[in-house]
Amino acid sequence: MDLLSEYLGRNSFDPTPKLKSSPIPITFVSFNLVDDKCFYCGEGYSYGFLYDQKFCKKCLSRYISDITDIHTYLDVYLDEGFYMECDECDKQEISGTKEPQKNIKNCCTNCLKFLLFKQIPYNPYFSVNKNCELCGKLLYKFVIDKSEFILCSDCYRISFEWIESTLTKKLIPIIYLPCWDNYNYCEVCSSKLKFTSDCQKYCMYCHIFYTGCRYCLTTNVIFGLMNQSQCKKYLTSKILK
Ligand SMILES: [Zn+2]
Ligand SMILES: [Zn+2]
Ligand SMILES: [Zn+2]
Ligand SMILES: [Zn+2]
Ligand SMILES: [Zn+2]
Repeated sequence: MDLLSEYLGRNSFDPTPKLKSSPIPITFVSFNLVDDKCFYCGEGYSYGFLYDQKFCKKCLSRYISDITDIHTYLDVYLDEGFYMECDECDKQEISGTKEPQKNIKNCCTNCLKFLLFKQIPYNPYFSVNKNCELCGKLLYKFVIDKSEFILCSDCYRISFEWIESTLTKKLIPIIYLPCWDNYNYCEVCSSKLKFTSDCQKYCMYCHIFYTGCRYCLTTNVIFGLMNQSQCKKYLTSKILK
């Protein structure tokens, strides 16, 4: 290991220790809650039937077929009850196992709407398992920018640090969120956020910058002017590989 990997290994705080950074970008969700069309393929977003999550079916299907085991990278679940009702889906496979979530690969496009992505804000209209599927611990609810997240405190960790701005040379705080913050309004002043890319947005009044990582579905919130902010988890996974 060279010095850089050693440094990264020691200093990287993993926001989602039970999940790995995806080897390919996760493109099926928008960084802007109100987007109607997929940034990548232009397809209209579909609503998840049970939890009000918006995603692109085309990009999601492609992601599922491209990736070997989706559960290594995403905290995602398929609602068993609805999935079992579907004729299109491979029922044979499900009846023999107690873990229907292992079968997302066999899911037909219609059943994609029964998926729940825990790293993306959702409305728990239907009761969700109260325990973490990654470790079994009781989940807790927290609110960031008015978005509600129901997450496990062991598997999802928030961290915070001060860094020197490359532009102003002043110390500015950064919060590392373990989830995908797709909200489109500023929490401090309630004005609309400005989107500069598929994973970047900012409040022009408060100078709060958000950078999402499409490999980990995490978000860095930077309270000041900064050249750029990269996801340490992804960076570490690239270098330590
Ligand atoms: Zn798409
Ligand atoms: Zn189906
Ligand atoms: Zn957990
Ligand atoms: Zn603001
Ligand atoms: Zn990342």
